[in-house]
Amino acid sequence: MASEPEPVAWEQITKNIHTMLIRLQVGGCTCDTKSPTLDFHDVRCVYRQAAEVAGVLDTLSDQIEAALLAAEQRGRDAERALLDWMAKDICLELSWGQLDPQDEGGECGWMVHRRWGNINDTEWHLIGTGDTPAEAIAAAIRKGDTPNGQ
Ligand SMILES: [Zn+2]
Repeated sequence: MASEPEPVAWEQITKNIHTMLIRLQVGGCTCDTKSPTLDFHDVRCVYRQAAEVAGVLDTLSDQIEAALLAAEQRGRDAERALLDWMAKDICLELSWGQLDPQDEGGECGWMVHRRWGNINDTEWHLIGTGDTPAEAIAAAIRKGDTPNGQ
């Protein structure tokens, strides 16, 4: 897939396709069979084909919806883990601004700094940068900076 649809997109579009398949079934028998039982209809009967495709679509839809929801949950869990890592250490700070303070008008981004020293002698060490807060925290973790600077 070029891009993954949001679960809501999948839900809405499959609902529309399902409605179309129901419309094909209503009065859709092309084999002159008076029974609702699919097996009695010819394999080329529109009623039977639409019902069978609807069944496959329902199964596929449930599977894809579950996969998309699981992916969404994994994303939330991963973000939660990043925030938990930040929360372990009150000396870590997340901010947005110029990545290089010496480069006036230079590139901006999200940064994680470690604050060192006391109130009169504070230093900020840049330990991670990224285009998003999550990327900056992940970069700080990859750098091997440990909670409490140990
Ligand atoms: Zn039929």
